[in-house]
Amino acid sequence: MRDAMDGDVAAVTFDLDDDSVVVIVGSGAGGGTLANELCRKGIGVVLLEAGPRIEINEFVNDEYLMGARLAWQDRRRATGNRASVRAFPDSPAWLCKAVGGSTVHWTGTCPRIKDFEFRARTTYGAIPGTTLMDWPISLSDLAPYYDRAEDKLGVTGTHGIPFFPGNNNYKVFARGARRLGYRHVFTGHYAINPVPRDGRNACDQIGFCVQGCKSGAKWSTLYTEIPRAEATGRCEVRPRCMALQILCDKAGRVNGVLYADREGRHQVQKARAVCVAGNSIETPRLLLNSASAQHPDGLANSSGEVGRNYMTHTEGGVFASFDRPVGWHRGRQAAGAVWDESFFKPERGFAGGYYMLVFHMGLYGLAASLLPTGWGRDYAEVLERYGHMAGCSMVGEDMPTATNAVTLHPTERDQYGLPIPVVHQDDHANDHLMRNHYFKHAAALYEAAGARRITEWRAYPTGHNLGSCRMSANPRDGVVNPWGQSHDIANLFVSDGSQFTTSAAANPTLTIVALAIRQAEYIAGRMQRNDF
Ligand SMILES: Cc1cc2nc3c(=O)[nH]c(=O)nc-3n(C[C@H](O)[C@H](O)[C@H](O)COP(=O)(O)OP(=O)(O)OC[C@H]3O[C@@H](n4cnc5c(N)ncnc54)[C@H](O)[C@@H]3O)c2cc1C
Ligand code: SF4
Repeated sequence: MRDAMDGDVAAVTFDLDDDSVVVIVGSGAGGGTLANELCRKGIGVVLLEAGPRIEINEFVNDEYLMGARLAWQDRRRATGNRASVRAFPDSPAWLCKAVGGSTVHWTGTCPRIKDFEFRARTTYGAIPGTTLMDWPISLSDLAPYYDRAEDKLGVTGTHGIPFFPGNNNYKVFARGARRLGYRHVFTGHYAINPVPRDGRNACDQIGFCVQGCKSGAKWSTLYTEIPRAEATGRCEVRPRCMALQILCDKAGRVNGVLYADREGRHQVQKARAVCVAGNSIETPRLLLNSASAQHPDGLANSSGEVGRNYMTHTEGGVFASFDRPVGWHRGRQAAGAVWDESFFKPERGFAGGYYMLVFHMGLYGLAASLLPTGWGRDYAEVLERYGHMAGCSMVGEDMPTATNAVTLHPTERDQYGLPIPVVHQDDHANDHLMRNHYFKHAAALYEAAGARRITEWRAYPTGHNLGSCRMSANPRDGVVNPWGQSHDIANLFVSDGSQFTTSAAANPTLTIVALAIRQAEYIAGRMQRNDF
């Protein structure tokens, strides 16, 4: 290991054959947080990131340009009957390929998973066609880590951080919600600073959150966790380095990662432990692509569960157009919530709940994502009356099934020669019931606020990917234990939303961060005891 000072930051370079380091694949919410937490405990980390490092001063308020720079665009295939799959057969998910991962794109909504959602199988009972299970951890296990995650992210309405005042998009939404009788209506929990905090500026309400927040008000690992990890002198970030395969020794433990560096050369970084945080499509793909004579079905896959139970959230959007201007695009893109439908209410006829979340889209993104629904009156109205719109989306619990899964394409290869992922997603009957409930109630909400026309948005690539390497008490039922450690291989970890046993309704990132903080403690403890 060599130390060098680069400006104020201690840059460190680890030798490829340094097998004392933990190699983390992916620098987003899971990987970036884990890197910082491990470094603070004295552990050396090599962070492999497939995408480039685009710093905050390089962000531009141009959603088209930033979308092209940040989005994961490597080839993928989607199959199944879900509307988003039919509309976007080559890009079922919306993810970043950049240092900071999808936390550069995200909009910061941060609810916790609720107690009943951790006990999904017990609460909902057996639902035919699903693989529902209870999580092997409870809300009380995770509560202290949620506290630390909320403090780290600076979540509004926690730790003495004020809530935001409402913007116009929220005010229209809140008026309709209250007229409908909803009671849990507020501007929401966001990892966005309303006031300067923890070295980050206050939100200036310009409304380009998805393009990359130029003020740094929105938490992203790019300019929080990662530079802090580097400042310890124990973290080396390698951008444009794509992990191709995780390698094992004769005893079956992982001992390194084969990756393509920025020039496309193959390199092997030795490792004491490997943590995979490539998001829930690339994480199972890497484990499956790591098949060898020793592990013919891929790594950590003795249960056959790697890639299965892939979940998103049950999603949909409603746009409402009003006679008078709303200016929905002014202010944060995500700007408030109704929680009433997120509770357990079996009388609605479906399991699980959903959040109604205020949001707006930029004009380009809106036009592109509405196009698959067809050219016509609704489409023209939305574009023509952009400044008169208000909007909200749903984020609801998605049912896990054995066949909604990430697998490897039998013939198609990517630019590295690896099989591309195939993402299969069918709607479950529960998804239809929940989505229809939302469309009806969201339309009623905006009508109560005086909307003159409602447009439904049923198909867009999801930003929430979960569950393809799920956490289980019994090794037979999943891929990792309650700390994200592979059931099969003690020094192999899954450190992102792939661990989720069920999707719950909560936007996932706060939970990913809480799990990463908890996992870092566990890894440090095991390393101290020389367990691996
Ligand atoms: C537009 C948008 C809005 C969102 N809003 C919210 C929100 O309001 N609230 C919320 O909770 N969540 C939100 N999300 C989701 C949130 O961004 C993700 O849940 C979170 O970032 C996932 O963290 P992760 O660590 O699993 O993956 P990511 O943050 O996606 O990071 C994965 C990283 O791994 C890298 N990688 C993958 N494979 C490899 C490989 N083989 N080698 C090297 N590197 C690799 C990728 O390039 C990427 O940088 C949003 C997402 C989008 C797209
Ligand atoms: S509206 Fe706030 S959070 Fe969004 S990009 Fe602007 S400063 Fe960042």
